[in-house]
Amino acid sequence: MHVRKGDQIVVIAGKEKGKRGRVLRLLTSKSRVVVERINMVKRHTKPTQRSPRGGIVEKEAGLPLSNVSLWCAKCATARRARADVDANNKKRRVCAKCATAFETA
Ligand SMILES: [Zn+2]
Repeated sequence: MHVRKGDQIVVIAGKEKGKRGRVLRLLTSKSRVVVERINMVKRHTKPTQRSPRGGIVEKEAGLPLSNVSLWCAKCATARRARADVDANNKKRRVCAKCATAFETA
């Protein structure tokens, strides 16, 4: 797993290529990832207790994990992470090229 919930990612393949967003959910068993505002689909929903009117709702659908990469804001491109430790000896992930720490929102 090269991304985590809350990571800023960029889509590197497929029809949403080039878009950026934050990871909302990981669907590990399906090797998919749900990203904010990426791969929106329309779902025709029946009225339920929670949404008594039903209708057409737009929501994010999962996309293959292999189509996303971590986004390094400093390099302004897709980058891999490598492991590192901070000043307090805590493990963290940093950009493989510029060593900027990836933040998980
Ligand atoms: Zn970088």
